[in-house]
Amino acid sequence: ESGLYIVATPIGNLADMSQRAIEMLRAADLVAVEDSRVTGKLLHHLGLKKRMRPYHDHSSEADRDSLLAAARNGVVVLVSDAGTPLISDPGYKLVRAAREAGITVSTAPGPSAAIAALSISGLPTDRFLFAGFLPSKTKARADVLAEFTHVKSTLLFYESGPRLGASLQSMAEILGPRDAVVARELTKKFEEVVSGTLPQLADHYAEVEPKGEIVVVVGPPTEAAHEVGDYEGALKIALESMPP
Ligand code: SAM
Repeated sequence: ESGLYIVATPIGNLADMSQRAIEMLRAADLVAVEDSRVTGKLLHHLGLKKRMRPYHDHSSEADRDSLLAAARNGVVVLVSDAGTPLISDPGYKLVRAAREAGITVSTAPGPSAAIAALSISGLPTDRFLFAGFLPSKTKARADVLAEFTHVKSTLLFYESGPRLGASLQSMAEILGPRDAVVARELTKKFEEVVSGTLPQLADHYAEVEPKGEIVVVVGPPTEAAHEVGDYEGALKIALESMPP
């Protein structure tokens, strides 16, 4: 059936490519890609030769219209370099436009680093907030983190090695001593999962800059942490109101 198909690809381990994802790529008349070198390698590995076209959310309206025209008459598959398209990756504007145009939008779901990290973190999974990449500038990062201080959910962040230390430092300062997990290189040879409180992890990664791709999972504010906060606040008020 003609339409736009959102197809997830592995986040590091090619064996995670699903049978349906392969079938959709095989059926594709056109593959919209983030980077044709990355997707070219995947298609080559699968023994497929496909017409590819670069797509980003800052692609022009005309580029989007042309993809939608192709999706009206044939099978257009959208992939990103890794994992699920649209999750900190291009595609949102294309999917929105396709839906508005009444074009079939369907998916071969599969890996996403955020969900993979959450599922092995040991932190609460009943409510979580995916926060994507934090801004790189200290002030902007602190402002975003401040928005999350009262959110009673596990928080998921995408990170890179060079920024991890500074981000954990900001998280420790603003979110307090919550439990957290740094999940690195999931499904790859050097997969590593390190857990601790945010201040412990901030100290650890101030010393070593890790390589590779990273998800930071931060637990919700605990009742205990809440009480400590209230207690400290109450103590401060009590001390301030004490006669000299
Ligand atoms: N769309 C992708 C998904 O569904 O996971 C995410 C794309 S985003 C541009 C790339 C970020 O995802 C990396 O910087 C890292 O934070 C995270 N990531 C991707 N692969 C990963 C892996 N194997 N292990 C840990 N984090 C990963």
